[in-house]
Amino acid sequence: MKDFRFGTPKSIGQVTAYLAKPGVDARVMGGGTDLLGEIKEGTAVPDVVIDLKAVPGLAYIRKEADGIAIGACTTVADLAEDPLIAQDYRGLHEAALVVASPQLRNMGTIGGNLCQRPRCWYYRDAATVCNKKGGSRCFAEQGRNKYHAIFGGGLCWAVYPSDLAPALIAHGAAAVIASPQGERTIPLAEFYAPPIVNVRKENVLGRQDVLREVRLPAAKKGDRSAYLKFTERGAWDFAVVSAAVRAEFDGRSVADIRIVCGGVAPVPWRLTAAEDALRGRSVTESSAAQAAARAAADARPLAENGYKVDILKAVVARAVLAAARP
Ligand SMILES: Cc1cc2nc3c(=O)[nH]c(=O)nc-3n(C[C@H](O)[C@H](O)[C@H](O)COP(=O)(O)OP(=O)(O)OC[C@H]3O[C@@H](n4cnc5c(N)ncnc54)[C@H](O)[C@@H]3O)c2cc1C
Repeated sequence: MKDFRFGTPKSIGQVTAYLAKPGVDARVMGGGTDLLGEIKEGTAVPDVVIDLKAVPGLAYIRKEADGIAIGACTTVADLAEDPLIAQDYRGLHEAALVVASPQLRNMGTIGGNLCQRPRCWYYRDAATVCNKKGGSRCFAEQGRNKYHAIFGGGLCWAVYPSDLAPALIAHGAAAVIASPQGERTIPLAEFYAPPIVNVRKENVLGRQDVLREVRLPAAKKGDRSAYLKFTERGAWDFAVVSAAVRAEFDGRSVADIRIVCGGVAPVPWRLTAAEDALRGRSVTESSAAQAAARAAADARPLAENGYKVDILKAVVARAVLAAARP
């Protein structure tokens, strides 16, 4: 492991100034539960690690006039335990509860969870130079691909591992990004970049940018949501397939719905065909199963991950039914 310097900035301005230094590979660290693994594995070789937790005032969950503001250094555990989130954003609450283990939820931050790198075994092997590391192929495409993407593959078939990202996107969250030029706010759905846009990174952050805050719109009366995650192990595991659903109802029928999956594509994956199939209909076992089957018809599995398509159908149908329950 190469030595690195450890930066303890006192403001976001100092963080972005560190990041802007030319010729220096600087990485921000929230809880370090992913970044330190990458450094040990040799897939990240930074000159400087910038401790975001040293910046005062970045850990908060605040009710504001137009919704909820969540600071980037808020831990996943604090998010899971927050009563406002549990009451009005049930899908997000359920997602936070199933991230990793209690120890990792106590250390890991929402910013780090949303910016974590994929768990693809080819990407995580420092000696394997795949497209994501400047190489010229994706080794999973013809190689071992049991856990890889069934949607949106091509240049890279790694899946995006975050549990919070699908739930936050389903709830219509936005990302507040700080840079030396100031701040900008974008929908979290647009924060993620598929491989065709940038195969080296999973999001649109420039090298001087930092995710400072996540904003949730005010919950509407009658909003319902759920998050379901299928894992191989009972605990401490990444999603094989997960589904976040948030719906608004007009009487018994679906007025609006968002279904976003994790573990199935290089970025959180919205199932618009399933959403269209449910809009204007009431949610029953049959309509939920039909919508899930519509979504699954677009899947393009690889040699070893066809089983994910059946799991997707079950997880999506059950998440839709769970969200519809008052
Ligand atoms: C055994 C194990 C199991 C896990 N299981 C799950 C799981 O089930 N579900 C799940 O969602 N995750 C899981 N994780 C992944 C991850 O560790 C956690 O999700 C955690 O929340 C990451 O947060 P962190 O603050 O520790 O990230 P860090 O390690 O500090 O950072 C992760 C990445 O994000 C970047 N980053 C951090 N904060 C910011 C920011 N504010 N702006 C820009 N970039 C930033 C870092 O540079 C780094 O590249 C698991 C990890 C391990 C080790």
